[in-house]
Amino acid sequence: MDRQMDAKEIVGKIDDAIANNEIFVVYQPQINHATGRMVGAEALMRWRDSEKGMQYPGDFIPILEENDLIYKADLHVFELICKFQKRCIEEKISLVPISFNMSRYDIYKNDYVDEIERIRREYDVPVKYLRVEITESSAIGGLELITKVLDKLHEYGYIVEMDDFGSGYSSLNVLKDLDVDIIKLDMRFISGKVGGRGGTILGSVVQMTKWLETPVIAEGVETIEQADYMKSIGCNYIQGYLYSKPITETQFIDKLTMTEHEPMEQPLKLISTMDAGKFWDPQSLETIIFSNFVGGAAIFTYENGKTEVLRVNHKYVVELGMNMSENDILGSDPWAIYDENNRKLYEDTIQRAIKSGDEEMCETWRTFYSDCCGEDKVCIRTNMRVIGQAGEQYLVYAMIQNVTKEKKQYANIAESERKFRMASEHANIYAWEYMIATKEMRPCFRCMRDLNLPPIIKNYPDPVFESGLFPEDYKEMYYDWMRQLEEGVPHLEAIIPLTVGRVPFHVRYTLEYDENGKPLKAYGSATLVVDNEETD
Ligand code: C2E
Ligand code: CA
Ligand code: CA
Repeated sequence: MDRQMDAKEIVGKIDDAIANNEIFVVYQPQINHATGRMVGAEALMRWRDSEKGMQYPGDFIPILEENDLIYKADLHVFELICKFQKRCIEEKISLVPISFNMSRYDIYKNDYVDEIERIRREYDVPVKYLRVEITESSAIGGLELITKVLDKLHEYGYIVEMDDFGSGYSSLNVLKDLDVDIIKLDMRFISGKVGGRGGTILGSVVQMTKWLETPVIAEGVETIEQADYMKSIGCNYIQGYLYSKPITETQFIDKLTMTEHEPMEQPLKLISTMDAGKFWDPQSLETIIFSNFVGGAAIFTYENGKTEVLRVNHKYVVELGMNMSENDILGSDPWAIYDENNRKLYEDTIQRAIKSGDEEMCETWRTFYSDCCGEDKVCIRTNMRVIGQAGEQYLVYAMIQNVTKEKKQYANIAESERKFRMASEHANIYAWEYMIATKEMRPCFRCMRDLNLPPIIKNYPDPVFESGLFPEDYKEMYYDWMRQLEEGVPHLEAIIPLTVGRVPFHVRYTLEYDENGKPLKAYGSATLVVDNEETD
């Protein structure tokens, strides 16, 4: 039966425990939940005392820290990890990067980084197989010291992880100031059910870390629901009991040989020169510009048909014209507002923007529901551009403009045109306009369709005689009409047999004048002469 050691025993026994290999390491794999492959592992300290049995870090590490003894234990653990990695390399066991924990008290030891670097070289382990975990509390002693340590670690080539992110209340500020390469989010710090409020906070943290171009590992994941949820918010890397408890060196070697490995993916890389850190700082120029000067704008991610809105500004909401808030948009399913056609149109535009790397535009109808207005359809013109990419995932910047009014007006005009066309078809009328000054003729839709005319006929009426639409024997009379119109004769009419079939049409002209009373244009029409008209 294991029994806990008291503080005095811990302090008294630690040197011997290190010398006698009673302090050892267990390993907990880190898995990509999307592929099932191993991306790394964390080394955790254990102490097996000859009298009291197994001791866990929660019980002895704080005592070691208080007594300035953690430094020794940490360096010992680091040496055990290097020994292990060297063994893997020598025995050709395919290895993964191993993370080790650095106590915040190690920072106060001036030579800590140099010591681990000396040990690493002694064992000849490439630096990419070792990762340092620091906690937010490292910043307690002031940013200057921890920044110096981080710089030195980076100089030597170590990847640095921020452990227990989200446990401190000042997380975001710390993250902004510390140059870490990976973030570890502990599920246990997120109270409440997955998908609830805790989930929302987690989601926004993951989104924010994407902006900071930093990969995230979710720790303490015990259930498949938690893992699936983390995956759904873009965090695939999982460390927790779900995949494996911390295991002994021998068990870990088995796992290494049995599981496939893969490197951790680079997160979103910003393409433009935008500074991601500044983007989240409410006082930064970037944020002020985004909020105030760009009109309605949104930033979303796109990956294999899925989109996720990361950020919208206030003008975006105003532009939609619905009684909604920024949060309504962030929390909703971005595709729900589209029918199938409009969704396809929008997605095609995203694809175009990905291919061209340029700004692309589309106009789509979206349906919104709100408590006050009920259902409403709005037409939005979107100009979008890809500003970031990581693997299959793209970061898209979209500017929007509400063009519903324009569209409705246009639809009205089109509708009245359609009605007029229908009416004239029933009346067997062909209509056109003749511009006096330019001698241009503009045929109606029906003329264009039935008589195969272009939208503008220049040098009228030469072409209609050349084509045989008007018969040669009416040429003289018709050219005289054109002259009369130029001179200002208000009305002309006659029956003219048209086309080679010499079908009789009642051709009429009515002249319109400009504000000075000069002839401007003439409205021409040709009505099929039906029997009763002839007999009239
Ligand atoms: P930590 O760095 O946050 O390590 C993760 C802790 O969570 C480990 O506890 C691990 O066993 C536990 N854990 C992993 N997956 C799950 C899960 O799914 N559910 C639950 N409930 N727990 C899980 P452990 O090994 O007891 O270590 C506790 C803490 O002690 C560590 O927290 C770390 O802060 C510290 N520690 C461990 N090894 C070292 C070391 O070598 N040096 C230093 N300075 N600190 C260490
Ligand atoms: Ca840790
Ligand atoms: Ca942790």
